[in-house]
Amino acid sequence: MSTPGTQRYSRLMLTLIKGGTKLTRRFVEKRVKDLSENGEEDTIDDFLLKNKYVILQQKLGKNKENVFFPRSGHTNLDNWDLCMFCFILEEICDPSQTTKMRIKKLLKIRNKLCHLHDPTLETEKFDEYFDDLKVSFEWFLKEINDEMFTEEMNELVQSLATDPLSMDETLKAIHNMYRSEWTQREVLEKIGSGQDLTNGKLDTLIETVGVLVSRLPSGASVTIPGIGLVIEVENCSAEEEKEILDNLEKFFNEAIEQKISGAEEDLTNGALHTVRESVKEVFRNFFMRGRHIIIVKQRCLLLTIKCTSVKSFLEMIRDYRTGDLSIQLSGIETAIKNWQGCGNIQLVNLIFKEEFMEVMDDIVSKLCKQVKQTEDTVVQTGSNAENSIRVTLKFPTVSERETVQNRFETEMFVDKMNRIQSELCGMLNVERMSLTDKLVVIEDAVSNFGTVKKKKCLQPKMADLSQYTLPNSTDVCLLDCMTAFKNLTDQEKRYAHHVSQAAWYGGLIVLVQTSPESPGIFLLLQKMFRAQSVDELKTLATTELGLSPEEFDAILIYASGFYANMGNYKSFGDSKFIPNLPKEKFEAVVLGSAACKSDPDKMKALWNAVSERLYSLENRQRELGLGEKGTTTYFSSNCDLQDAEVAQEFLTAKNLSAYNTRLFKKCAQGSGPVEYEVRLASVETENGPLPGCPDGMLGSHQFTPKGWSTPVTFHVTRGDYSKLMAHVAQALEKAKSAAANDNEVKMLREYIKSFKTGSIPAHKDGSRYWIRNTGPVVETYIGFIESYRDPFGVRGEFEGFVAVVSKEMSAKFGALVENAEHLLAKLPWPQSYEKDKFLRPDFTSLEVLTFGGSGIPAGINIPNYNEIRQDEGFKNVSLGNVLTAGYKDTKVTFLSDADKELYTKLKIPSFEVQVGLHELLGHGSGKLFHQDENGKFNFDINSVTHTETGGKVTSWYKSGETWDSKFSTVASTYEECRAECVGLYLCLSTDALRIFGHEDDDGDDIVYINWLNMVRAGLLALEFYFPETRAWRQAHMNARFVILRVLLEAGEDLVKVEKIKGEDGNPDIRITLDRSKIISVGKPAIGDFLRKLQVYKATADVKNGKEMYDRYSDVHDSDEPHFISLREIVLARKQPRKMFVQHNTSLCGDGSISLESYEASPAGLIKSWVDRFPNSDVDNIIEELWNKDKPYFE
Ligand SMILES: [Zn+2]
Repeated sequence: MSTPGTQRYSRLMLTLIKGGTKLTRRFVEKRVKDLSENGEEDTIDDFLLKNKYVILQQKLGKNKENVFFPRSGHTNLDNWDLCMFCFILEEICDPSQTTKMRIKKLLKIRNKLCHLHDPTLETEKFDEYFDDLKVSFEWFLKEINDEMFTEEMNELVQSLATDPLSMDETLKAIHNMYRSEWTQREVLEKIGSGQDLTNGKLDTLIETVGVLVSRLPSGASVTIPGIGLVIEVENCSAEEEKEILDNLEKFFNEAIEQKISGAEEDLTNGALHTVRESVKEVFRNFFMRGRHIIIVKQRCLLLTIKCTSVKSFLEMIRDYRTGDLSIQLSGIETAIKNWQGCGNIQLVNLIFKEEFMEVMDDIVSKLCKQVKQTEDTVVQTGSNAENSIRVTLKFPTVSERETVQNRFETEMFVDKMNRIQSELCGMLNVERMSLTDKLVVIEDAVSNFGTVKKKKCLQPKMADLSQYTLPNSTDVCLLDCMTAFKNLTDQEKRYAHHVSQAAWYGGLIVLVQTSPESPGIFLLLQKMFRAQSVDELKTLATTELGLSPEEFDAILIYASGFYANMGNYKSFGDSKFIPNLPKEKFEAVVLGSAACKSDPDKMKALWNAVSERLYSLENRQRELGLGEKGTTTYFSSNCDLQDAEVAQEFLTAKNLSAYNTRLFKKCAQGSGPVEYEVRLASVETENGPLPGCPDGMLGSHQFTPKGWSTPVTFHVTRGDYSKLMAHVAQALEKAKSAAANDNEVKMLREYIKSFKTGSIPAHKDGSRYWIRNTGPVVETYIGFIESYRDPFGVRGEFEGFVAVVSKEMSAKFGALVENAEHLLAKLPWPQSYEKDKFLRPDFTSLEVLTFGGSGIPAGINIPNYNEIRQDEGFKNVSLGNVLTAGYKDTKVTFLSDADKELYTKLKIPSFEVQVGLHELLGHGSGKLFHQDENGKFNFDINSVTHTETGGKVTSWYKSGETWDSKFSTVASTYEECRAECVGLYLCLSTDALRIFGHEDDDGDDIVYINWLNMVRAGLLALEFYFPETRAWRQAHMNARFVILRVLLEAGEDLVKVEKIKGEDGNPDIRITLDRSKIISVGKPAIGDFLRKLQVYKATADVKNGKEMYDRYSDVHDSDEPHFISLREIVLARKQPRKMFVQHNTSLCGDGSISLESYEASPAGLIKSWVDRFPNSDVDNIIEELWNKDKPYFE
């Protein structure tokens, strides 16, 4: 909102620029006339020419000189600015002493205004400057001595003092003033070069634009043109320079095109390779900060950088100014020094001022346009409002507006309104009509300072909004486990109950792992729904609080979505969702609820603490992500990618697992020494031994990251989520007494140890016992498991589940295990790339009883610890009731009618085949080449050939390296893609199909539908790609898109994706798969791709693997089928994801366990959560955790 201070600043600035320029111009014209000799009136050009020598002597710089003496021979006074007029007046117009003094005053005020750190003025200063201006103005007017002009000027000054300010004009005026400042400098100086004056002005300009941008209405955006960053090489020979620049250009272009470079000889030169890596690093680092390098050209080396937002643009300029940009590029410099062997080489980076000003111009004009558009939108929204008249009042000052607001609030208008009402009734000849009035303040400072309008336009446009809300039509289904539970023995039921309790308590940790506001929202919802039933609340909301039934339903859907995702970000896709009703309405329900009546202070405080973020769709809050890319609570909000990498380096060096950690950076950005806290999840909060880790792991460590000159401090602490972890450990302790066998007892013992102390080695041991516990009736797993939601991909999200065996499905999967070795031989890689001995995983189909965490997958393959998977095995779990419930009656989009019919008939059986193959033979197949700490290889380095190069294998995992640590950010999706490809590839085998009971024609149909489903999923995946950040938000969906790209690339019209007009008249998409070409075209394409995935994985070849994967992941619009524009259609036609209601178990007085079931509806889902945590004990724990974290996320 505009402050009176900004207004004062803007008014003074406008008066000075508009009034001052007009006045000095007129004065110059008069003096030129007065000074003409011989009775002949000089033109301004003649006059300038006569004094050319004096003017040029002042060395004003090329730009100003060109304005005075343009090639055309005629100067245009419209192009002169205040300074230029003042200069001419002072230097060659022979001014009197008083005139000189008055000119100096003008310039002094101007400079003062330029140097303010904030575009704001106190009344006192304003008055002082304004009086000075007035005196100068009066002096000039007296000298000019023209009555009409004087009148004109006075009117102008008057209107600038009282009329509403146009932001558009202010912005332009301020901008022009600053623009004139750079004419004397060729480049923008860096700090410390002594040009403090210019720097100060630049800073003020950046601040000004920054402040203005922050006041743009949300949803508004500005595209920034590219700006050139020049890199010069100094202190080396011309040849060296050429070589360096040639290579830098090449590497940058590689980074831009993300292409695979075939240049093998580069790799033999390690030093040059490092330069390439450092270039990529810079590219990626810039990318994360919203700076996209789009073109690289040599002049020196010119990088054209396109920033994604005004903010990132300003930040880059600030970085340039403070020298941080040099630091960000220093990696390349260091790498070049090593490569060229010459310590003197220096990279100098420059941004040219002309270009900078051009970009600024463009931004300013776009900002102005935005402002105008916003005004238009506001007017339109107002006019189609239901039966209402909108009166827009503009006020020149905030205080006047406040007066009116006050009067309105004290009902001084009621009288007048009544009069208007009776007049209207008479005029329109109606008896019953009543006017109600409502005042809404638009705090839209950008368009007009101090305006009152009828609509608060804070929400983004509807089209955007639908992506971030859950539709009321979202299906809620019951995750039915009643039959399976009934078949359990009493002891099994007790075991299931206690582990379920552990899973539910542990699942609450996800609140803390998702967003800063999630714990608070949970408290709000729990308290509200605990105090009264959904029905009671509904009656209250729809009768007394003015909500429509749809609006109340939107609250229920929001709450259900929140519980189902354990936070306000979708577990599938990681984008935020907000309630689909106005904030005021939600607030009315919170404040009118029984919970608020019984504890008003608490509820109001909670609402105040969460409501803003609950509704905010600020850019950084729309998705989960690191730094500028989004929201995360795995890292304190001051961390970026570099912090994540440094921490990873530390964790790797200490051999400390990241799974149960979060990272907090302890110092303010850019100042003081950096300190990090690596916080482990555990019951215990004090330092002490960490089982399975060397002594002294907990505590402080000095660590110097690679390429750093000074060490940073890492404090390894524990006790994250302590009180929740205590509940988990206690529940598991109780489960121990009901365990079915010794493996389960030992497994629980290790888990408890892990959760108490924070030791991941203990959790690994627990997982080892878990694998050995084959075919249990009640299956469980619990801990920090999947790393999808850590933006860096290594920190695990808590999850815990209890599932019960389903007999007949397990039989089919059992048969698949029996045939595994035979089926694996069909995979498209040599035997040497397969595990030495296939470790038969336990593969069962289960019905989920309890799933605590952010979302429920249809199948899981755990543990994720690679050394255990490799050497001891893993288990596959297919969650049958999730599969069937989730696939019921979904509307099928993007297929032809004939395809739709077959698809609907066979999707469940074909998906069953795919899940089985994906989990068992997908994740279970393939070997990693590894060298242990004694130098021993797990493969024959002499005989194994690289399938792609035909040569020997030259890379592998070294001791301490794992798949996840090597492939970090792409590891999950790459591996999912490999597993999906295995499913597609092996489902073509009649043996595999027979196991699932599909033979002959039926089998062909299953294959067709499975492939068709994959292709369709690849298209639907676009929902989980975010063009703004160019990031994928869901590992499996990214994988399916990659597969679609591979199949499209195979050509021969195997797959067609066409844009069509839908039956409803709106754009639609039709996907077709030519089933006659699956074997001839599809199979070799998937086979080749799958083999490459495996080989790069096996050989730890991140470079080639990631390059290939990223190339297929890239979503662009540059050629057919134009995925970015298809994405819009996919979004417009997307089906809401189903939500699941789960049962509760409880311990009865007689020691037996009962199962509670709930209605498959939002109300049922909410009730299940109220019953799960029926009193406020757990609220207090969550609140404590929430408060503890708050300082890190401000
Ligand atoms: Zn998978």
